[in-house]
Amino acid sequence: MRKMIRHMAGLCLVVAILLMLAFPAMAYKIHRIGPGDNIQKIAVWYGVSTESLIQTNHLANPGYIVPGQVLLIPEPSIKVDERVYEVKLGDTLSKIAQKYEVSLDWLFQRNNLNANSRIYAGQMIRIPAPDTGQAGGTNSKQAYVYNIPDLMKRHPGYVFLKGSTTEKKVALTFDDGPDSRFTPLILDELGKLGVKATFFLMGKRIPGNEWVVTRMIREGHIIGNHTYNHLNLRKMGTTAIATEITKTDDAIQKIIHKQPTLVRPPYGEMSEAGLDWMVDHGYRMINWSVDSGDWRVGSSDQVLVNVLPQVQPGSIILFHSAGGTGEDLTPTVKAISELVTTLRGLGYQIVPLPELIGLPAYQ
Ligand SMILES: [Zn+2]
Repeated sequence: MRKMIRHMAGLCLVVAILLMLAFPAMAYKIHRIGPGDNIQKIAVWYGVSTESLIQTNHLANPGYIVPGQVLLIPEPSIKVDERVYEVKLGDTLSKIAQKYEVSLDWLFQRNNLNANSRIYAGQMIRIPAPDTGQAGGTNSKQAYVYNIPDLMKRHPGYVFLKGSTTEKKVALTFDDGPDSRFTPLILDELGKLGVKATFFLMGKRIPGNEWVVTRMIREGHIIGNHTYNHLNLRKMGTTAIATEITKTDDAIQKIIHKQPTLVRPPYGEMSEAGLDWMVDHGYRMINWSVDSGDWRVGSSDQVLVNVLPQVQPGSIILFHSAGGTGEDLTPTVKAISELVTTLRGLGYQIVPLPELIGLPAYQ
């Protein structure tokens, strides 16, 4: 009998060790179900999805939760331009919007809230990551106003976040080039893989790097306009916007003898009047649906982690091919090959942006 108890104790120890190995410490919180709780309310409270709550807790019948029951709450999943904020006593959504220089719409959208929603101390909500600017130019904190849906409504067919979703096709786009350091390395990688990408060029980086632009065209890539000085066009007058775009077009045209149709405004920001001007002049505004965060992550693994879970048919994926002083795009260069191989393994075709959105690259 005693021998058997010893055996049992030994067995328990082995099982405990195996369990520890199989389930490394995860950062869960515990929620204790109270009267009136339901899964949707709890999900909003902690900033997680109802699906992740259901999966984490293996809830067979999510409608059936009872007071006294506990739920494991996973960490909220956040996008690269978000972070989690714990609501303090006295906070309101307007106060948070003001403090973090973000629009109420942004907060509503990212947190599944609306104008009638109330927030409470201890609630987890998503706010913008400390710096959501892109490479090149200033990275000062921008008051991000999510006006893209309004722009899309104003000029249907002229503003794109993604392409056609009917086929498993995606496009790779590279901003902020050309330079003589990282852009050629990216071209090398794309060449080896036989991938045609789209480069949104900054006018002021073209002088001295004309050979890189020539190489892009020779190797079958598409060139788009990323303005001259990389300023926030939403905050500028129409004349200044027109200058930013046409000056860049001139620099590009001198080399490739064609005028781009595709414009990616820096930070994806554009004013309504600016878009009106673009439409009148035959341009299309191209943003993105997947942000690799490549210029700020520091490792190619993180680039892959940022991109792969987000990719869907029609995705326009944002990378950078050059950066400001001290910015290192080695993670981008390193990630390309594995990313392309993985996407192709998943059945995706990587196509030039004009093919994805069904529009000509040049006017
Ligand atoms: Zn940029």
